[in-house]
Amino acid sequence: GAVLRTAGLAKTYGGRTPVEALRPLDLEVGPGETFGLLGPNGAGKTTLVKLLLGLVRPTAGEATLLGRPVSDADARREVGYLPEGHRFPPFLTGRETLDLFARVGGVDADRRARRAPALLDLVRLGGAADRKVGTYSKGMLQRLGIAQALMNRPRLVFLDEPTDGVDPVGRREIRELIETLRDDGVTVFLNSHLLSEVERVCTRVAILKDGALVREGTVDDLTRVG
Ligand code: ADP
Ligand code: ADP
Repeated sequence: GAVLRTAGLAKTYGGRTPVEALRPLDLEVGPGETFGLLGPNGAGKTTLVKLLLGLVRPTAGEATLLGRPVSDADARREVGYLPEGHRFPPFLTGRETLDLFARVGGVDADRRARRAPALLDLVRLGGAADRKVGTYSKGMLQRLGIAQALMNRPRLVFLDEPTDGVDPVGRREIRELIETLRDDGVTVFLNSHLLSEVERVCTRVAILKDGALVREGTVDDLTRVG
């Protein structure tokens, strides 16, 4: 079945001038897909991801992760999340950072000790594991964030603008990392405002504009003229 499914999922933020951030959306992402959600800033991409993570309450509709409602703690535990513009304390090393977040997330000591070095290698930070995070480049910080998102061995990861502010070499490293995840069978949900970022790695792309899904298909479908 679907890894992720929404039915009429919608969000309007209240306030003096209500914002229709997401209009009723039906969406399905299957196992092993690398799904790209493309759209300009303000299109509603982060809102959709937060709805799917149960971090924002929908105005209407519903969403399931791995066949369970997003409010289900077990489903949430099997999902990884790299928030947009994620930041880390600069005074910890990469290794300490991963350990701290895993500890806060309730990962037991055994698993932390096994998993942290493997994850640091996976995101190619093995050589920088004992350097303070304050010395990391933007690309290294994003890769550390992805390592953090993978700590619980999720079957699904949400990456929100992972290449934002990252230089071209760093962007390529992140693309390669996403390809590794895809090869491992991890379902990836990638938010980006850049077609160039999603077209190379995503198996399917949807375009969000003013909270509405305007197009959806393979990258070939979307870039075909006409
Ligand atoms: P994107 O991730 O595509 O940049 P967002 O989901 O962040 O888009 O935002 C979609 C719309 O919802 C924007 O108009 C934004 O200003 C508005 N918005 C986002 N979060 C809030 C909030 N907490 N309260 C009110 N409006 C919000
Ligand atoms: P268990 O589920 O049995 O507790 P872990 O999830 O801790 O096992 O992982 C078992 C081993 O596989 C660990 O050494 C871990 O570092 C390694 N491992 C797990 N996932 C990955 C991955 N995506 N890439 C590389 N190594 C991994």
